[in-house]
Amino acid sequence: MTGIRSYNRRVLVTGGAGFLGSHLCERLLERGDEVLCLDNYFTGSRSNIAHLMGNPLFETIRHDVTFPLYVEVDQIYNLACPASPVHYQHDPVQTTKTSVHGAINMLGLAKRLNARILQASTSEIYGDPTVHPQPEEYWGNVNTIGPRSCYDEGKRCAETLFFDYHRQHQLPIKVIRIFNTYGPRMHPNDGRVVSNFIMQALRNEPITVYGEGQQTRSFCYVDDLIEGMLRFMDSDPQHTGPLNLGNPGEFTILELAEQVIALTGSRSTIEFRPLPQDDPKQRRPDITKAKTMLDWEPRVPLRDGLERTIDYFRRRFFG
Ligand code: NAD
Ligand code: UDP
Ligand code: UDP
Repeated sequence: MTGIRSYNRRVLVTGGAGFLGSHLCERLLERGDEVLCLDNYFTGSRSNIAHLMGNPLFETIRHDVTFPLYVEVDQIYNLACPASPVHYQHDPVQTTKTSVHGAINMLGLAKRLNARILQASTSEIYGDPTVHPQPEEYWGNVNTIGPRSCYDEGKRCAETLFFDYHRQHQLPIKVIRIFNTYGPRMHPNDGRVVSNFIMQALRNEPITVYGEGQQTRSFCYVDDLIEGMLRFMDSDPQHTGPLNLGNPGEFTILELAEQVIALTGSRSTIEFRPLPQDDPKQRRPDITKAKTMLDWEPRVPLRDGLERTIDYFRRRFFG
């Protein structure tokens, strides 16, 4: 040993106490990385990371990414941002600030350290897509002034910043576009379709399907998503992305409601509600690039993933 400390890779995870962030922290620790988990606990919670607290390689910091941060790390995963419409519309100005100022600060930090940095971008940058399924080359169809714009445009601007820091400062960047992901530790009240339907089914309350339920989404189980994220971060630096990560299996919202009712054995009925403004009609990732470059594709079928997620919600909230 030559240095004053044995060397583990030091990884910063912003939004580390959230749904995806907590799974990412767990996987990084399992492979022996030192993890600095940063969060302002807006939508994340200490209970998501409670099981990691005793690990000597794990450290937390309460911080808002819209403010500068001075730490020493080797890699940065930038996940901080509320992700569900209910949460990101709660304080839309703060949502845009989190994406844009957050990206600037984390890119500034990465630049000072010459650290590799990954941005959790989103399929929402495609808006209500006119091309289906969506390949990375598609530029999207986004409303700049609607209720979803704070999230969509914030994430689009963050992508722009990542690529400008890459071109202007040769910063090693990785941009992933995450499609709807679900699993244990989703927020029970975030209004997202999977958590909503499972909570409603377990309470035997009506399942609220918006519109006629004919809009489609593609649902990726969290373990598959994190595997893709880790593989991409560690891939050849010339691969900057943007890279779609998600499960190409496409289901209507009505099909999802029926599956959740069947798997929970619930007495819930289906209740139709008005479709929210700007709700995308269909969404499915084209994951050809991820398949070719990372030899990655989702392994967990919707049914298995839903069973694991239902099991989590049952134990955590109805145990
Ligand atoms: P989440 O809400 O569970 O996690 C986000 C975390 O960021 C939370 O812990 C929250 O407290 C924290 N946070 C929010 N604003 C912050 C700020 N200003 N400073 C510091 N921390 C802040 O959501 P998630 O589903 O885990 O999403 C994680 C990331 O992945 C987000 O950037 C989201 O946009 C992206 N994403 C998620 C999905 C999905 O389906 N889950 C899809 C596309 C993109
Ligand atoms: N920054 C940070 N941590 C660092 C370095 C920079 O939070 O270790 C922030 C800093 O506040 C700045 C932003 O990142 O506003 C962008 O940094 P950059 O060096 O790109 O720009 P500049 O400092 O020249 O504005
Ligand atoms: N949705 C629904 N009932 C709910 C919550 C959501 O029918 O209780 C619909 C919503 O209108 C959208 C889809 O499910 O068409 C996915 O919604 P979510 O908020 O989970 O993700 P996003 O719209 O951001 O993809």
